Amino acid sequence: MSMNFERKLTIPKEVKEMYPLTDEMKAVFDKRNEEIKKIFRGEDDRMILVIGPCSADVEDSVIDYITRLIKVQEKVKDKLLIIPRIYTNKPRTTGAGYKGMLHQPNPMEKPDMFKGIVAIRELHMRALKETGFTCADEMLYPENYRYLDDLLAYVAIGARSVENQQHRLTSSGLDVPVGMKNPTSGDFSIMMNAITAAQHKHTFIYRGWEVHSDGNPYAHAILRGLVNDHGQSMPNYHYEDLRHLFELYSEGGFENPAVIIDTNHANSGKKPLEQERIAKEVLYSCKYSSDIRKLVKGFMIESYIEDGAQKIGDGVYGKSITDACLGWEKSERLIYDIADRL
Ligand code: PEP
Ligand code: MN
Repeated sequence: MSMNFERKLTIPKEVKEMYPLTDEMKAVFDKRNEEIKKIFRGEDDRMILVIGPCSADVEDSVIDYITRLIKVQEKVKDKLLIIPRIYTNKPRTTGAGYKGMLHQPNPMEKPDMFKGIVAIRELHMRALKETGFTCADEMLYPENYRYLDDLLAYVAIGARSVENQQHRLTSSGLDVPVGMKNPTSGDFSIMMNAITAAQHKHTFIYRGWEVHSDGNPYAHAILRGLVNDHGQSMPNYHYEDLRHLFELYSEGGFENPAVIIDTNHANSGKKPLEQERIAKEVLYSCKYSSDIRKLVKGFMIESYIEDGAQKIGDGVYGKSITDACLGWEKSERLIYDIADRL
């Protein structure tokens, strides 16, 4: 094999023993999980905002960002439940580039997977301890999920992973809502098949064990737009797309039909300032149709302290080094605008 087995890494159980949660942190985790599930069950009609930077690149600016969110959450708590995005591993279109904090706890230094495992656990723990938020992350590598399974409130399966068997089967064993993104081609049936797979029981191999999953009734859709055969970004948040999704769900066989609208990525054509307009259009569709209002459980918004993106090494505080984001002032205003429309 032309692969160098560098060192055996500490397993999740041991990392959790090294960095354990307090009883108080566990109680917050459980309470938030129950609140979030109520929204997916339709027992609470607040919307969910999964909001934060494309990648959690630097601990201090991420904690600064989510600390700002606490005050906003308090003001909109009757209308919105905020789940910060703390994305610690990034899928890359060609494999090249920054793969997230898991690989590079310091984006300026070379990859170190052990430091990365500790860094992502410490970041999610610090978020919970200092802000009371349990957060969202992408499950890019299913076998790594257990490093964070006692911390994450929401898990997304990315557009490049959603057709993968191991992502689908692992999702069926998670106890938190899992959002299945439409694939980059935009095919709804791949996303719906992923939801079906995740909602059912399975027997499979996970981390060298034979495991049995119960099925996850909170697996749902995330619409993120698509890239067509000519490489152009095309949206899929319009009324017609939502109606189509409603009809697919109506064919039956799904628990808790739900969708989260990703306002960035191919929906905004990577123009992050468009996210305001996109969210408002979706809210208009929700006003127009009660079917759609029931289906749309919230938004995924890419937001950070500064508007836009920069290259690694440019060193602007709170500015994304992956996808361009909506800056803090505009994000804060957008959250209030969304709450006002509900
Ligand atoms: C993301 O959420 O930053 C992301 C990479 O999304 P997608 O899988 O939709 O490209
Ligand atoms: Mn992104």
